[in-house]
Amino acid sequence: MKQYSKDTLCVQAGWTPKTGESRIPGICQSTTFFYGDSQAMADCFDLKSDGYFYTRLANPTVAAFEGKVAALDGCPAAIGTASGMSAVTLAAMTVAGAGDNILCSQAVYGGTFNLFGTTLPKMGIECRFFDPDAPAKEIERLIDDRTKFIIAETIANPSIIVLDFDKIAGICSRHGLLFVVDNTLATPVLCRPKDFGANIIIYSTSKYMDGHAAALGGMIVDAANFNFKGNARYPSFNVPDESYHGLVYADLSVPFATKCRAQMIRDTGAIMAPMNAYISFLGCDTLALRMERHSLNAARVAAFLAAHPKVKWVKHPSLKGDRYHALAQKYLPAGQGGMMSFGIDGDIEKCRTFMEHLKLITQETHVADVRSCVLHPASTTHRQLSEHELEMAGVPANLVRLSVGIESAEDIIADLEGALAAI
Ligand code: PLP
Repeated sequence: MKQYSKDTLCVQAGWTPKTGESRIPGICQSTTFFYGDSQAMADCFDLKSDGYFYTRLANPTVAAFEGKVAALDGCPAAIGTASGMSAVTLAAMTVAGAGDNILCSQAVYGGTFNLFGTTLPKMGIECRFFDPDAPAKEIERLIDDRTKFIIAETIANPSIIVLDFDKIAGICSRHGLLFVVDNTLATPVLCRPKDFGANIIIYSTSKYMDGHAAALGGMIVDAANFNFKGNARYPSFNVPDESYHGLVYADLSVPFATKCRAQMIRDTGAIMAPMNAYISFLGCDTLALRMERHSLNAARVAAFLAAHPKVKWVKHPSLKGDRYHALAQKYLPAGQGGMMSFGIDGDIEKCRTFMEHLKLITQETHVADVRSCVLHPASTTHRQLSEHELEMAGVPANLVRLSVGIESAEDIIADLEGALAAI
């Protein structure tokens, strides 16, 4: 299926029925699978043959969705997880343990920031945050021989910073380090991180992939383009795994995904639910169409806001004056997605008035689905912070986060215009 365009892969990849089978994958709502022969089951346990034995490790409906995402990313393997956060957690746990450290862009989704800044340190995994716009030399200073990977987001949520792939890929290749990318807000339709040097790609499929705010999920995609063999940074890939019959992961064709599933999915149970895989699989059928529309709508909305006298600033990489426009031209040429932020010319009260006068665009903590939605962090998620603290957190009091949906751009703009007129 890899020779097809992304538009075709969205619709066709992941499930090719055999004669008499359902045209779309069924929901295999079963925890366990029948084997008449104990050797056949043992071979599955030993990874000697493919087959399902327990849904905590693999399931046919989840496998169909995994196959679709892997094909879209041009990669050989993917693992469906319970949520985007479990994808980030499991990816980290696959390579890092107590005493190790990881490098994470400081411009990442708040949940990822908490995981790396608070939760993983309690387990002995140190996180070193870096400014994604810092020169390579500055970032490289944070690396030592216990560093396990560098992670950043293609389009950072909510700062809308576009990742400089060449810079991070260069650092990773100089140090024999894994390059992990959270591609949630770009999706493989707008950017294939593997083409720019990423080794592991992560998604919250709860966002654009499902696209309808209906199913929680995550995905870890293995590009299988990293050589673990003999790399002293990754001893756990080079010594036999006694918890898995002495398997040496570095010897396999997809080492990371195999270790992640065999150890981390097995031990944490954070697998995707079949129902969520089914919903997200169907969502992905229209992903290419939707990403095109999200991007076109967002570019029009950003241009409207940028020209509005009651708006102080707008961040969307489609804008020529945006700091990340050139990077977006390089890595996201087909479109830059629907996420943006802008600053109202006024105080918190004016922002509240604006929000209350929106009629079509709804207030939600969610982003990246078909419906336009908006959030004013200073009066909701960040309301406990002072104005100074808000500035420090990069979330000024006048910041509004807008996720542009696929409604008519005229209607979205009219709604924004009406609410801006009220302040
Ligand atoms: N990564 C990014 C970039 C996100 O925006 C989010 C959620 O908003 C996550 C990861 C976490 O995903 P989930 O909510 O599915 O756990």
